[in-house]
Amino acid sequence: MKLKHLNIAIGLSMSVIFLFCGTKQNNVPLKSSESSKDTCYFTCDSLQSALKETLSSDFCFVKSGYFLVVSNLSQSEAKGLSENSIGSALKCFYNDYFIAKPTELVTVFLFKDDTSYRFWADKLYGDKDDLSRFGYYKPSKKVMLMNIATGSGTLIHELTHSLVRYDFPDIPSWFNEGLGSLYERCSFENNEIKGHVNWRLPALVEAIRKNQYSSIKTLMSTDDETFYSDESALNYSQARYFCMYLQDKGLLKKYYKTFRDNFSSDNTGISFAEELLSSNIVSIDTEYKSWVLTLKQ
Ligand SMILES: [Zn+2]
Repeated sequence: MKLKHLNIAIGLSMSVIFLFCGTKQNNVPLKSSESSKDTCYFTCDSLQSALKETLSSDFCFVKSGYFLVVSNLSQSEAKGLSENSIGSALKCFYNDYFIAKPTELVTVFLFKDDTSYRFWADKLYGDKDDLSRFGYYKPSKKVMLMNIATGSGTLIHELTHSLVRYDFPDIPSWFNEGLGSLYERCSFENNEIKGHVNWRLPALVEAIRKNQYSSIKTLMSTDDETFYSDESALNYSQARYFCMYLQDKGLLKKYYKTFRDNFSSDNTGISFAEELLSSNIVSIDTEYKSWVLTLKQ
């Protein structure tokens, strides 16, 4: 994904971003084989040494499963975020949801403030134009850079992308961003991740009320360029709440798996929604819009 697109994604992640991504934390320890505590599933010593040479001495390192967390927060703060946000999300995503796991190490930079985030984004990767104040994921370099002072919602959004790309490589943008933005505000309970209403709702409600809303069918048929166009804010919102609509019906995981496993027969996902909801896409849209108007922020 282009940086510009990612910046659009994160630039929209504004007002409601929760530290630890929600209110209900699941503190059940990971199985030893899946422990996120100071264990990296990939060789990362040479990378860590190279980063130590480049970064200033205030950075610490936390090895965390598929990730190497690098931060200028304190070691305990970095470890807390690694275990409570990344670790909890991983447990939920690999609990009867995603199957394929990352095959490469991803480095997650958690910068303590905007100044250090911008300085190192430029110094390490030459990224300074259109830089979101929240953070971004750079798949080509296998890195996520976060201004964690803005909260951890963006971290879970980008973490979702970084895992989905291995499990559902062909996922269309509308569904990828729908899932990522759904989990910007989430809770972890009984190894299940659940998205909650967030700041993206009013734009969708307004579009429905002012007849500026297109349709679920149009959303699901958009190509990447159209999805990430100047009108992307509404696309994100529509996609997020369609994922939440499926979650509300207990069908989101099933829809994800059906879509992933049958992508070659329908790359829009429309037929799978019709099948699981036992309805046609026009009727689904009508019910979805009514459901959206019942939501409260
Ligand atoms: Zn995104």
